[in-house]
Amino acid sequence: MNAADNILRLKEQIPESVKIVAVSKLRTIEEILEVYGTGHRVFGENRVQELLSKKDNLPSDIEWHLIGHLQTNKVKAIIPHVKLIHSVDSLKLMSFINKEAEKAGITVECLLQFHIAREETKSGFDFAEAERILKSPDFINMQNIIICGVMGMATFTDNTKIVRNEFRTLRKYFNILKESYFIDNKSFREISMGMSGDYRIAVEEGSTIVRIGTLIFGDRNKTTN
Ligand SMILES: *Cc1c(COP(=O)(O)O)cnc(C)c1O
Repeated sequence: MNAADNILRLKEQIPESVKIVAVSKLRTIEEILEVYGTGHRVFGENRVQELLSKKDNLPSDIEWHLIGHLQTNKVKAIIPHVKLIHSVDSLKLMSFINKEAEKAGITVECLLQFHIAREETKSGFDFAEAERILKSPDFINMQNIIICGVMGMATFTDNTKIVRNEFRTLRKYFNILKESYFIDNKSFREISMGMSGDYRIAVEEGSTIVRIGTLIFGDRNKTTN
């Protein structure tokens, strides 16, 4: 199977209401174009430099998502080029995004990344921390950052019970935040959860965006991520 067949098959299995971000990190321009050729337009990268250099060499109607950790010194470079930043994990980063977006005269759509996995290496807010931020005047005064929902990564395990519980927790967080802070806000509507190994469970648990690399492009070459 090639990448084009893989994404078409995936689309048959996932409800149309769920957005698929084709995770193209470490893939070549040719591999990406193969998927693009099927009509797919939504791609995700976890590194700023890689996203920007690929964007330069690919059609301009691609919708790019940043899914990996964002350093504050890269905010300015990336914000004009992405549809959605999935990985906002600190108030400091939010302030930077807001400030640079204001300077650029744009608004930037972001998700709050939550730490739902058992691995400490996976980043993200805990719930209390996120609530503190959403209540703070610092956040309330930000005019150029739009919080569109939540993102999380489940534990890397074959134990589907653990994975399902973590996705449920993220969905619960989404629901509470929606009720408490975004009740009249139509932008707050996304739950980004599910990767190649666990997207089926994620969709069952209410995911609205899945981020899928390996299942589309095949195994990535060892070295990173
Ligand atoms: C790499 C990556 C994915 C995709 O992982 P696959 O297992 O290849 O589908 C999804 N989300 C994030 C944040 C990633 O870094």
